[in-house]
Amino acid sequence: MTIDLEGIKKIYQIGTQEVAALNGIDLHIKQGEFAALMGPSGSGKSTLMNILGCLDRPTVGSYKLDGKEVAYLGDDDLAKTRNKKIGFVFQNFNLLSRISALDNVALPLVYAGKSRRERAERAYHFLKAVGLDTRANHQPNELSGGQRQRVAIARALVNDPSIIMADEPTGNLDTKSTTEIMKIFIDLHEQGKTIILVTHEPEIAACASRQLLVRDGVITRDAGRGEKMDVV
Ligand code: ADP
Ligand code: MG
Repeated sequence: MTIDLEGIKKIYQIGTQEVAALNGIDLHIKQGEFAALMGPSGSGKSTLMNILGCLDRPTVGSYKLDGKEVAYLGDDDLAKTRNKKIGFVFQNFNLLSRISALDNVALPLVYAGKSRRERAERAYHFLKAVGLDTRANHQPNELSGGQRQRVAIARALVNDPSIIMADEPTGNLDTKSTTEIMKIFIDLHEQGKTIILVTHEPEIAACASRQLLVRDGVITRDAGRGEKMDVV
């Protein structure tokens, strides 16, 4: 699945005020790339991720996912595209607190119209893949931060999307959990998934095969693995 952005701009409207968050992003990402997005706070990383993840639309520009324009789809089609093609992982996990880990992972399959049995089987399979099969019946508040993020990753994987996106997935985690989570992303990359993640940590960006620097709503650097990148 290829990603092609051309001339992407995003202007937020707050009352009569306009905030230009993205000022013309051109970006091509091939299937199987591992891209790390870096850049100062407020530079537009989350805005870009939300557009890439089909959680939001640009104001101007083109976003082609596997050659198909998705930038201006209606709500239902945008949600369908997201559910089928993209797994999204948030900094704050975004799990539902009153249902089990298993039911959280199975949720995208409810929207995809799968049977109860298939939902349970697939959810269990992906919980096992992130090492949490023994926690299937626990609610999020009975799990550590790192475990919650692993549940969120299992949920992102449950529809077998070819692209996984994550906005500061280790931003709220300790070093040990961060290492565990990054090992999962590296494994997924080795399995052929496209990974796009936002991070402030140079050590995390070093896991990626490509490093992108966002500044004032534009990409100011596009570097390969191991090239030194000054963020500030
Ligand atoms: P980053 O993730 O790099 O910190 P963001 O994409 O969150 O940057 O924000 C980019 C700019 O857009 C900032 O000036 C921010 O205040 C503004 N912004 C982000 N989201 C919204 C929103 N929902 N409404 C209005 N302005 C927003
Ligand atoms: Mg952000």
